[in-house]
Amino acid sequence: MALVNGVLHISAELKNNLQIVDFYGSLRRRGILTYEFHKPEEFDSTFASQAARTGHAENEVQQYAIDLIKDAFDTGASDIHLMDSGLYTIIRFRCLGMLTDHTQLNAELGQRLIACIYQKLSQSADTCFSPTERQDGRIAQRNYLPPNVHSVRVHSEPIECAQAQSGVGTSMSLRLLYDATSAKGSLQERMAVLGFTPNQCDTAQFLTRRTGLTIISGPTGHGKSTFLKHVMESMTERNPEKAYFSIEDPPEYPLKGVRQVLISSNDRSTRSGAYCDAIAGAMRSDPDVLMIGEIRYVEAAVAAIDAALTGHSVWATIHANNAMGIIARLVSILATHYRNPLEQICDHNVLAGLEYQRLLPMLCPSCKIRLMDLKPEKRQQHLPEDVASRLRRVLDDRESVYVRGNGCEKCRKRGLIGQTVAAEIVATDQEMLGFLREGNIPRAHEYWIKEKGGRSYVDHAVELIKEGHVDPYLAEERLGVPLNFNQVFVSGGR
Ligand SMILES: [Zn+2]
Repeated sequence: MALVNGVLHISAELKNNLQIVDFYGSLRRRGILTYEFHKPEEFDSTFASQAARTGHAENEVQQYAIDLIKDAFDTGASDIHLMDSGLYTIIRFRCLGMLTDHTQLNAELGQRLIACIYQKLSQSADTCFSPTERQDGRIAQRNYLPPNVHSVRVHSEPIECAQAQSGVGTSMSLRLLYDATSAKGSLQERMAVLGFTPNQCDTAQFLTRRTGLTIISGPTGHGKSTFLKHVMESMTERNPEKAYFSIEDPPEYPLKGVRQVLISSNDRSTRSGAYCDAIAGAMRSDPDVLMIGEIRYVEAAVAAIDAALTGHSVWATIHANNAMGIIARLVSILATHYRNPLEQICDHNVLAGLEYQRLLPMLCPSCKIRLMDLKPEKRQQHLPEDVASRLRRVLDDRESVYVRGNGCEKCRKRGLIGQTVAAEIVATDQEMLGFLREGNIPRAHEYWIKEKGGRSYVDHAVELIKEGHVDPYLAEERLGVPLNFNQVFVSGGR
C-alpha cells in the first residue's frame, strides 16, 4: 500500500488480508483517510516507488517464481508442488513420475510466492488469490517461461491445516506443459518414439482410418494428452483435406492443423454446460474428426456417441483402470441418460477402440546393474523378495533383467533416464462387442488375448523388464498392480 496526498492506495491483492482490513477499517472509522483499491499490476506501475514494503520486494518474489519454473525445467520436472502448511512452505519437483524435495521457505515468503504465481504470473478467472478457495490459472506469457515450456497450468487447493492461524493451508501444483516430445512423421514413427510396440502402432494406425469412437485412458500424468496430440497431428498431416476440431478444458498443447474450440466460461457451475456447448458448436462446424479432451459429463458422452453414430471419427480420454474398464466407466456416466447404456455403447458403429497406458521410468544404460551379476545376498537390496518371486512367476528368462544402479553423471545420479509407455490397445470387432454387450468383460478380454493376439499393459511392462529397460520394482510401483496381475485377477491371462 502507498499513502499519497492523504489517500491510502492499496493493491487489490491485499483486499482479503485481515491485517489490512483491520487497518483501513480503523482509520476510516476515525475519518482520517480515504482509500482506494487498484489492480495489482496498476498499483505496481503507479505506486511502486511510494509503496511500503517488507522483506522481499514484490519484484524479487516474482523473479523467484520465474527462477523456480526455470529450475524445474532444468531438472526435467513435469510438476512443481508448493505446500503452505502455515509454518513453512515445502517445494517439491516431480521428475520421472517421482516427487523429490527442492527447497523449503518460511511461511511469509512461501505464501507471497503462491499468491504471486497466481495473481502476477497467471491468467486466471479471479484476479486475486484466495487461500480458502479452489482456483485455476495458466501461465502462458513467454517471458515467464523457459524456452521449451509453452505454458504452465496452475491449480490451488485449500487444505486442512492445524498449524496455520486461519486453519487453512494451500496446496498449489504447477504442471509444466512442454512442447511435447519432438516426435514427427507418421503415427507409427511417433508412437515408436513414445515406446509403443510395432503391433500397437499398427492397431492405432488402423483406428485412425475408421469412423467411430476411440477412447484413451490412464492416470493423470501418464502421457494421455501427448499420445492424443500425436494421433491428431499425424492425422492432419496425412489427411489435410479433412476438418479437425478439438474441445479441451483447458487445451494442453497447441495442435497443428486442429481447430481448438474455446470454452467460454470460467465459472465452475456453468463449465459443464459451456463444455457441452463447445462440443455442439464443433458438431455444427462440419467436422470430420473430433477430439474431446476428456469425457467427464453425461452430455459429453452422449455427444461423443452421437458423433460416432453419424459417421465421424471421435477421439477422447476418460479415467479408467484398464482398456476394458473404459466400458464400465462409460456405463456409469451414461446410466442416467440411457435405460441400457451397454446397448448404445457396444455398437459396431460407435465403439472403435480402447486404449490404456501408464508411463514407466527407464533405466540409465550407463549405470544399470544386471540382476544376475549381483551376489545373491545383495539382490534383496535391489529387488525386494516379494517382487522377485512375482517376477519369477511371469518371467522364465531373467538373463537380461536389470535393476536401478547408483546413478552416474549421465543420469544426474538418478539411475533413470526418461520414461516409456506400458500400454494396451484394443480394436473392437463384432464378436468382442457381443461379449461386452452382455456385460461379460472377462470373456471379451480372453477373446482379445487368445483370438486377436492382444497383450495387456502389464505384459507390455514385463517385456520391458525382460529386455532390461525397466526396473522390476519401480515398474510394479508405477503400474499400481502386481506383475502377476493377469494370472491372479484376469481370467484368460497367461
Ligand atoms: Zn546413470
